[in-house]
Amino acid sequence: MSKQQNKKSDFRYDTGEARVPWAAVGESLNIEDITSILKFLIPGDLNDPAYSEQLGKVASELENLRQKGDYASKLSLGSHVKKLEEAVQEFLDVKYACFITNATAGFEIGLKFSGLKPGDEVIAPAITFLSTINYPLQIGAKVVLADVDPVTLNISPEDIERKITSRTRAIIPVHIGGYPCDMDAIMKLAGKHDLMVVEDAAHGFGGKYKGKSLGAVGDFGSFSFHEVKNINSCGEGGIVITNSDYGEDFPKARFGGFDIANPIDKWLYDVVALKGRGDHYTVGGNHSSTEIQAVVLLNQLKRLPGIIETRRKNAEYLNSRFAGIEEILPGPMDTEDIKGTYHLYLFQLDHNKLNGDIQDFKKKMAERGIVQIPHFAPLYRFTFLKQMGYDTEAMQKSCPNAEEAFLHKFTHLPLYPLTEGQVEYMADNVIEAVKEMK
Ligand SMILES: *Cc1c(COP(=O)(O)O)cnc(C)c1O
Repeated sequence: MSKQQNKKSDFRYDTGEARVPWAAVGESLNIEDITSILKFLIPGDLNDPAYSEQLGKVASELENLRQKGDYASKLSLGSHVKKLEEAVQEFLDVKYACFITNATAGFEIGLKFSGLKPGDEVIAPAITFLSTINYPLQIGAKVVLADVDPVTLNISPEDIERKITSRTRAIIPVHIGGYPCDMDAIMKLAGKHDLMVVEDAAHGFGGKYKGKSLGAVGDFGSFSFHEVKNINSCGEGGIVITNSDYGEDFPKARFGGFDIANPIDKWLYDVVALKGRGDHYTVGGNHSSTEIQAVVLLNQLKRLPGIIETRRKNAEYLNSRFAGIEEILPGPMDTEDIKGTYHLYLFQLDHNKLNGDIQDFKKKMAERGIVQIPHFAPLYRFTFLKQMGYDTEAMQKSCPNAEEAFLHKFTHLPLYPLTEGQVEYMADNVIEAVKEMK
């Protein structure tokens, strides 16, 4: 008989050492599935005999391996997810970490515990990805967009202060490109006005602000492991963190409010609501992630310091090449107590000193085969906020720095492990293009 009779129990139905256990996994991922995954991850030409032959060898070796071991009997929320969460808690020096489907789910969880209700106001930067404000819009809270700092393009604390009202409940600062926001000023405002702070640290995993990890400065922080970020968990994934007691309820927020510690009569466990700030009750979502994602992220976590180092060196190289060119405003770099993650290189032009602006510059770069993407347009420029009844023209008028940066000044250059030749080519051509615009 197959070893498959010893399937592990699901955490919800822990039937222990039974002769007929209740299995967590209905259908194992078998050799065919695993070979398909390998074929997908390391694609090649199936008509190439060398590739096909090697694939066949791997498949038969996998079969041999299976004779010695067994198929995984837990695919969702198992020991590897737990191990990852413990590793992240240690890496970030934070009390609670919860592995979820994406950063967006983490903002939702943080805002639920912040007691966000319909009619409340949330302040977020004008320049970010739409997922930062997704949950407030979903529940009918009002999104207020604050202007950005002209140097870092991070949310401006001065403009947050101008836009706080008696209905403001939370601030969502975004560490754009992985460079930390001015968190001291933001936390001071939050303290003064009794607001919760949910950090959009989608770019900020592994960054530091005055001795604390990004994401752990505010009440909640959420990271993204989507494929474009510095490290990823099979293409999608997120982690939400906190040092507050709400972290005890993270597993309930992640999975339906299941209260596994609380068995009830004639059934297995209770389902409870999530209790947020101000005794506001909501329900848990379904944001569970998989064991395979956790296995991969545990590996990438070990590589992260080296990955950030490579990106930092690329950024330093670009800055050294751009030094002395007064029309180029260099991207913000590390200081004694501020460490970015170098997810993106923020590139700005002082267009007032040039014949042309960032739009002309981008055309010149495209002609040279250098792809650079601003990534983030001010959110009031998309259709959705207008459709939802927002006065987007008024929003635009209230964010002059975001407008100026988007229209005339900024783009992002890539920092991922490019070849030396690529980084050099990029620097040479940026300099040349700027010269042409003088
Ligand atoms: C990628 C990104 C997100 C969303 O991350 P997901 O994991 O895809 O939910 C949020 N905010 C910013 C600024 C991002 O770039």
